[in-house]
Amino acid sequence: MGSTLLQKVWDLHTVRRLPTGQTQLLVGLHLVHEVTSPQAFDMLRLRGQRVAMPDRTFATVDHIVPTDGQPRPFLDDMAEQMMAALERNCREFGVPLFGLDSADQGIVHVIGPDLGLTQPGMTIACGDSHTSTHGAFGAVAFGIGTSQVRDVLASQSLAMEPLKVRRIDITGELGPGVYAKDVILAIIQRLGVNGGVGFAYEYGGPVVERMTMDERMTLCNMSIEGGARAGYVNPDETTIAYLRGRRFAPTGDAFERAAAWWRAVASDADAVYDDRVVIDGATLAPMVTWGINPGQSLPVDGRVPADAEMDASEHAGVHDALEYMGFTAGAPIAGTRVDVAFIGSCTNGRISDLREAARVVEGRRVAGHVRALVVPGSKRVAEAAEREGLPGIFRAAGFEWRAAGCSMCLAMNPDRLEGREVCASSSNRNFKGRQGSPIGRTLLMSPAMVAAAAVAGEVIDVRRMLPAGGTR
Ligand code: SF4
Repeated sequence: MGSTLLQKVWDLHTVRRLPTGQTQLLVGLHLVHEVTSPQAFDMLRLRGQRVAMPDRTFATVDHIVPTDGQPRPFLDDMAEQMMAALERNCREFGVPLFGLDSADQGIVHVIGPDLGLTQPGMTIACGDSHTSTHGAFGAVAFGIGTSQVRDVLASQSLAMEPLKVRRIDITGELGPGVYAKDVILAIIQRLGVNGGVGFAYEYGGPVVERMTMDERMTLCNMSIEGGARAGYVNPDETTIAYLRGRRFAPTGDAFERAAAWWRAVASDADAVYDDRVVIDGATLAPMVTWGINPGQSLPVDGRVPADAEMDASEHAGVHDALEYMGFTAGAPIAGTRVDVAFIGSCTNGRISDLREAARVVEGRRVAGHVRALVVPGSKRVAEAAEREGLPGIFRAAGFEWRAAGCSMCLAMNPDRLEGREVCASSSNRNFKGRQGSPIGRTLLMSPAMVAAAAVAGEVIDVRRMLPAGGTR
């Protein structure tokens, strides 16, 4: 009987089984950012401890970074303090920092893969929920809290509960205008936001095998929104080609040896799974969320659900969501007026996302009432976009072109919704107040769908606006 990738990586990184039933796992890569690390470093200082493996620890700044070019010190004193604390901590503890003066600064889940730090067969931890992104490479990657950040800094290991594995196969072929974002929104819509509790999701099947690494990262990024502790794709030739030549990837013979091992760490053909789900990719349409969790979504040509269509246990949650969002049960989601359009985040702030959005807006204008932002996921993504002339396309259409950061994904920086604004967003969470205003409303969708909404001034099916040809 074969093993899954999760089992292989887990076994290889097991330090010992703990009396609690947990496993002490060695962490191969620890990524750090300014929000969840200050207290962790303070706790180390109090105990007189050092960072156990500073050569396996890398820091960047993303959440609080103003994307409008604000100079230091930042206007927001709290942001300035966090930034200064990370700089001081990295200096004192010998942790490399990709700060604002680094060409490699960006969202932690964008720069790790971009730099080749993220590699197959690794265990990866970071004090951010969307660490599951790195599973796209066949790594086992977990988001952790501040006390666990302290543990990993001090011991380079983590106490973890065992996980089951659910294999999710996406068969067939995605239609034009249907992206990885639509696939993961559809998965969460079907399995529920708690459907993955206790599981790691292994994504596979022909659609996933054909996906680029950027697309696989979008897929794995939102595993956590479906309740899964991690999500991954088995490493293959696409993974290996992506990593070749990256700054922190092995070189020469060492790369070939690593690649052979990466292939071997993939799940065996006869691996046994705790659960299996199959979704026909050809049945999927562009998705939009209508509610206050990422599972409350529907195809763009659908209608906001009414009581009759759902289980009685869901009524209270649905009524709450409808009331907050201001939707009427049974209303079509297409045609919903949007005030803000946000393209960015660790889910969809990569170069391929910006290319797809640019294809939609090229030669068009953002609707007069819409505030539209494009925020690249990293400085490297911004540079790549500049080489391709994408900022000019966005600016000509009426978008603001910003500096790299998390921006309006969570509004720990000046990019925020105001009042009851509705935002078409390529990010990953539509919780109440997520984008800064306690009454602001978020509609999650693909970057191409956000671009289409920005132009139309309302939710619209991007398939009506895509030019012929292109990636999809
Ligand atoms: S883009 Fe959003 S989800 Fe991703 S790391 Fe930043 S705040 Fe977290």
